[in-house]
Amino acid sequence: MIQIHDKHFVPFITAADIEAVIIRMAKQAEADFAGEVPVFIGVLNGAFMVLADFAKHYTLPCEVSFVKLASYEGTSTTGEIKQLIGLNQNLEGRIVVIIEDIVDTGNTIEELKKMFEAQKVKQLKIATLFFKPEAYTKNIHLDYIGFEIPNKFIVGYGLDYDGQGRNLPEIYQLHQ
Ligand code: 5GP
Repeated sequence: MIQIHDKHFVPFITAADIEAVIIRMAKQAEADFAGEVPVFIGVLNGAFMVLADFAKHYTLPCEVSFVKLASYEGTSTTGEIKQLIGLNQNLEGRIVVIIEDIVDTGNTIEELKKMFEAQKVKQLKIATLFFKPEAYTKNIHLDYIGFEIPNKFIVGYGLDYDGQGRNLPEIYQLHQ
């Protein structure tokens, strides 16, 4: 059991199990993109570890990049507005794979899908290490899924609780 701030977390998925699943995802992507040069785009901050490890196991030509979704308050009529920052290359005609740490309700992935499609990419695929099917509210197909997990809060391997826990090499689940 570990403690982060006021909460306790119990071990959930080992570093070895994560690595095995990431290798499986990378090999699946290699089979899908042989002869192409895909652009793997990680969504910061959470996806920094998954994309680093995924890229090491993807042994064919590819590009690796990161973006961040920044939110800011719009006017009272527009509410919260999301902006994609860090994208400094032309993706028109490219095969793009969004790499996420976790898909929960799917709101983030829906937002990202719209933004990347506006860039006129040739093909857009979505990869996520963790997926919470019970929480998912969208019809968007997820092309590569690492683990399907219950609707409980997790930390580690890039995922934080209130800023901490991203550096943990394994996954912990909130203890209730
Ligand atoms: P969405 O609901 O849009 O699919 O996910 C929104 C964001 O919530 C994710 O990108 C992630 O940052 C955060 N999130 C969702 N579930 C968890 C979780 O179990 N643990 C942590 N640390 N973050 C989560």
